[in-house]
Amino acid sequence: MSDEKSLNFIEEIISQDLATGKHKSILTRFPPEPNGYLHIGHAKSICLNFGLAETFGSATNLRFDDTNPVTEDTEYVDSIKADLKWLGFNWIKECYASDYFDQLYAFAVQLIEKGLAYVDDSSAEEIAQQKGTPTQPGTGNAYRNRSIQENLELFAAMKAGKYNDGEKVLRAKIDMAHPNLLLRDPIMYRIKHAHHHRTGDAWCIYPMYDFAHGQSDSLETVTHSICTLEFIHHRPLYNWFIEQLGIYPSHQYEFARRNLTYTVMSKRKLLQLVTEGHVTAWDDPRMPTISGMRRRGYTARALRNFADTIGVAKRENIVDIGLLEFCVREDLNKIAQRRMAVLDPIKLIITNYPETEELLHAENNPEDATAGHRMLPFSKELWIEREDFEEVPPKGYKRLSPPQTTPDGVTSAGAVVRLKGGYVIECTGFAKDAQGVVTEVHSKVFPDTKSGTAGSDSVKAKGVITWVGVADGVKAEVRLYDRLFSDPQPDAGGKDFLGALNPHSLQV
Ligand code: ATP
Ligand code: MG
Repeated sequence: MSDEKSLNFIEEIISQDLATGKHKSILTRFPPEPNGYLHIGHAKSICLNFGLAETFGSATNLRFDDTNPVTEDTEYVDSIKADLKWLGFNWIKECYASDYFDQLYAFAVQLIEKGLAYVDDSSAEEIAQQKGTPTQPGTGNAYRNRSIQENLELFAAMKAGKYNDGEKVLRAKIDMAHPNLLLRDPIMYRIKHAHHHRTGDAWCIYPMYDFAHGQSDSLETVTHSICTLEFIHHRPLYNWFIEQLGIYPSHQYEFARRNLTYTVMSKRKLLQLVTEGHVTAWDDPRMPTISGMRRRGYTARALRNFADTIGVAKRENIVDIGLLEFCVREDLNKIAQRRMAVLDPIKLIITNYPETEELLHAENNPEDATAGHRMLPFSKELWIEREDFEEVPPKGYKRLSPPQTTPDGVTSAGAVVRLKGGYVIECTGFAKDAQGVVTEVHSKVFPDTKSGTAGSDSVKAKGVITWVGVADGVKAEVRLYDRLFSDPQPDAGGKDFLGALNPHSLQV
């Protein structure tokens, strides 16, 4: 690996694990829940997991964490795969937590047989009440003392569909007084009579995150299981299950979630934006989804650069969206072909230019010599932006304005500008309609000033303006996208993020 970049703390850990021989090689995984489209926060996790594999010459599994049948869907699975490919990452194995349902069930039976799990008939409220608080230990209940035999039978009956949703759960028997509340007999399985996107109606009990994630990592022999900081308190439980089952010791590491200003990143909120019609779809160009950014014209390289730039931290923070926009501009500047468009047109007439059209040789991208040139028709009548003309120019105005006469009768020449890729012109006058709206701008050309010729700077221009030929301009619908939210932190402190929607985020 390269020595130029300093290692982030996860790379440090892996380097040591390889140096000490703890691992001969590593395996990471990216574990999305297929309950929404991937967003820019996920891109960070993707670049981290797949990036580690690239750095250390190893591989990454794509694992769908699909243990929650109600919210998951194959549409999301497909979109996640498409986004990963577009970002340029390849996984070595495509895995599904649901592929391990039989194995996970067997693991649960094993724990029951060891006296480490029991079926509890309590309601969700009772379980919550018995849990205690951070300062008060929880209390066990009578179900905790069920015999192994009874637990085995009840768990089998749960699987067989004898009970309704919520009637029973399977819990790990750990310690109702444990200082970490997550270890106070956590739920392993719940009953949910729901159709699963892959296993259909085969199951009516589903494992909880904590009883699926670590075991899935272990079954795949993931060495470094990297997740976001909110799972730090789950790590002892992750380890407990692995130890009690005596399976491959995967290890969990946590890094800080990345948030962005002017953005909400929770999939639940993004789904709400879609279902309530605040945006057109998950891939609406205003969405912080990878597919939305792709539609907006962001490049995969820009997103990967952004992910690298923000780095890996142990503490949560909010990244300025300006940094993302900078990464996008930096990349597009190098690769995007330039074209001119005029959104609010006003006609420019070059009175001393011949009636015939001329073809200019225009650079496609001044930053890239290999991007070539295009032939750009130039003629007497052009469209320019209305805002590129001022009848009375404000101080410092660098675009077109007509000759001005001072109160003491001195007349100065009109403003001189360059038409991008073409000639320098001088404004000579303008015309207005009956309502006083400017309808035409008049000018004269300096014939020797054609861009790219020896005399191009023989006349000094104040500024450069864009234009489109009247004869050959093409009409187009233009959609101008702005930020979706006008508040830098739309959902901070439990604020209603819908109240922060920017009403002008799309202008057609
Ligand atoms: P949500 O809370 O919106 O449902 P999630 O984090 O639960 O999102 P997952 O599909 O479980 O979504 O995420 C897959 C992986 O991406 C996880 O490892 C998760 O920690 C990581 N991830 C999600 N959001 C971010 C973020 N903003 N920054 C960094 N990593 C993230
Ligand atoms: Mg999750």
